[in-house]
Amino acid sequence: MAQLGKGKLNYRCPSCFMRDLDIDMFYDKEKKEFCCIRCQYRGSEKDVLEKNEMVRFRYGAMLKRFDFGLEDMEWTNDPAVEK
Ligand SMILES: [Zn+2]
Repeated sequence: MAQLGKGKLNYRCPSCFMRDLDIDMFYDKEKKEFCCIRCQYRGSEKDVLEKNEMVRFRYGAMLKRFDFGLEDMEWTNDPAVEK
């Protein structure tokens, strides 16, 4: 783990973002890759951006699906979920 530092831009780890964790990644100057200290994810800037885009899309779709299925789910009694 040499040459790790903050990149010029901070990107969040797409893999952790999937699990609801907002983790900043470090930049590996030698390999020109971003890497996550938490889940071992690493990828180029392009890869990170693509995956983040994908996660956002999937995440949005998931939330929508919850919206549509609300009546069938018992956990909607949870005030945090109910709108
Ligand atoms: Zn991660």
